[in-house]
Parts: sequence; C-alpha cells; structure tokens
Amino acid sequence: MLLRQGIKIEAKSFAMGVRVEHPQSLIDSIQYHGISRNEYLPAASYSLVHQVEGRGVYSFCMCPGGFIVPAATGVDEVVVNGMSPSLRNSKWANSGIVVEIRLEDLGDYSKFGELAGLEFQHQLEMLAHKHGGYGVQAPAQRLVDFVEGRFSSNLPACSYHPGLNSSEMNLWLPQHVGTRLQEGFKAFGKKMRGYLTNEAVILGVESRTSSPVRIPRDPETLQHVTLSGLFPSGEGAGYAGGIVSSALDGDKCADAVAKYLAV
Ligand SMILES: Cc1cc2nc3c(=O)[nH]c(=O)nc-3n(C[C@H](O)[C@H](O)[C@H](O)COP(=O)(O)OP(=O)(O)OC[C@H]3O[C@@H](n4cnc5c(N)ncnc54)[C@H](O)[C@@H]3O)c2cc1C
Repeated sequence: MLLRQGIKIEAKSFAMGVRVEHPQSLIDSIQYHGISRNEYLPAASYSLVHQVEGRGVYSFCMCPGGFIVPAATGVDEVVVNGMSPSLRNSKWANSGIVVEIRLEDLGDYSKFGELAGLEFQHQLEMLAHKHGGYGVQAPAQRLVDFVEGRFSSNLPACSYHPGLNSSEMNLWLPQHVGTRLQEGFKAFGKKMRGYLTNEAVILGVESRTSSPVRIPRDPETLQHVTLSGLFPSGEGAGYAGGIVSSALDGDKCADAVAKYLAV
C-alpha cells in the first residue's frame, strides 16, 4: 500500500526455515544430563547457533512444553509457529530453526525490488501449502531423514493439530536454505548429543520470524524519512522482533507522537 503511494520502504535481511519438534523428555534428558526432571525443574529449553557458508543458522522462539501452531494469513499458505502455555507442560519441545537470508540470496526475486523478500516468503509458504497437500496440514519429515535426504515413510506423533503430510523437504526448500539447515542440524547434534534423532520431526515453513521489509524512519523524530506524521513502529515496520521489543518500540513511538502533536 505504501509503495503504491510512492512512500519509501526498503528490503531488509530476514530469516526463515522450519520448526523442529522433539519429545520434551528427550530435551530434558540432554539438558539435565540424564537426571530425570522433578517438580522443581522447568521443562528444559535450548538455544543453538551455527555458521554455515557465511550465514547464521539458529534456533528461534524455542517453546519448551509447547505446541506447534498454524500461523498463515492466506488460504494458499502454510506457515508454522510455536507457543508454550504458561505451565509449559505439554510433552513436546519445539523450536524454529532458521537460516539468515540476505538480499543477495534472493536471486531472481530481486526483480520485485523492495518486495523481493516478501515475494520469496510468499512463494515458500505456497510451496509448503502444496507439499502439505493443499489444505492446512504441514509438510513434514523426520529429522535424520531430512538431514540424509530420505523420504519419511511414517511420521511421529506431533503437537501440530491440523496434521502432517510426509514430504521430502530438502527437494523443494531453496537450496541455500535446505543445505544450510541440514548442516546446521548436524552441528546441533554434536552440541547436544541425542538432538539429531528420527524421534524429532521438522515442519515447514517457519517464515515469519522477522519482517523482510523496513519502513525507514528518522532516528530522532521516529517519523518516516519523507512523510511527516507517519510513525513506522513494531515488527511489521522492521523495528522489533518479538513481544517485548515490539511493546517497547510502540511505547517509544507513542511518546514521539505525543511530542509531535504537542508542537
Ligand atoms: C503463534 C505465535 C507465537 C509467538 N510467540 C512469541 C513469544 O513467545 N515471544 C515473543 O516475543 N514473540 C512471540 N510472537 C511474536 C509476537 O507476537 C510479535 O513479535 C508481536 O506481536 C509483534 O507486535 P506488533 O505490535 O509489532 O504487531 P502485532 O502484534 O501484529 O499488532 C499489529 C496490530 O495491527 C492490526 N492491524 C493490522 N493491519 C491493520 C490495518 N490495516 N488497520 C488497523 N489495524 C491493523 C492487527 O490487527 C494487530 O492488532 C509470536 C507470534 C505468533 C504468531
């Protein structure tokens, strides 16, 4: 909408990949070194990062004792995300595992200019819809099968309610995402012994970790660089990622708006 009105926006780097789910008991056993979790220990979490061919591959929004949930906004997309209830008491541990995407990775999509990342994101979400079976099921593969490039003839139980459709994700994920994920998972398996297992399943796609566009603003006034009175803020405008940073950015922008109106 802003672009159509000739209001400047810009493409920015972002990240996308898959969501992986393990039994929580397995993550507990790795993180608590085999000691069984008692009522005083929380469901264990993890944070993983590895560099593959100049790009970060990392865990994002790890949800101990949580669920994988659908997060698409269109009928032709499948997008997954994760959440934990406050008790963190489901039997699953899930996390986004995403690859950093820079503008130079977008190849042919550069013809979409500032919207290159958005277009790339949408294409991948439509591919997930197709490989999930054109419904709300998510395409999925057992973790070791994904890393070794093998079809999963069956899938483990999973917290994702709409259901799973077995798919060789490495065949349709863009190569610069798929191969980095495979290498990343191998490295994670060395950092957390037992993590790289076919008891785990990956679902596609985790594509909404951060905004692929930014609406540029003046760092002092927080107003758009050319349109005064417009205060780009929060995650969609490219200034936050997650609940707390979005809230803080909103607070900062509300102060800037109040100052602007008082002049
Ligand atoms: C399933 C799920 C789990 C998540 N879990 C976590 C977590 O555990 N921790 C964490 O930090 N983050 C989490 N997030 C991310 C977090 O929700 C976002 O980072 C945060 O909500 C972004 O805040 P925001 O204010 O920028 O945008 P939003 O919260 O998306 O708010 C934008 C608002 O604008 C409204 N809007 C949109 N278009 C228009 C329009 N044209 N006119 C009027 N209103 C409009 C929308 O209805 C919405 O209310 C999760 C997200 C999802 C989907």
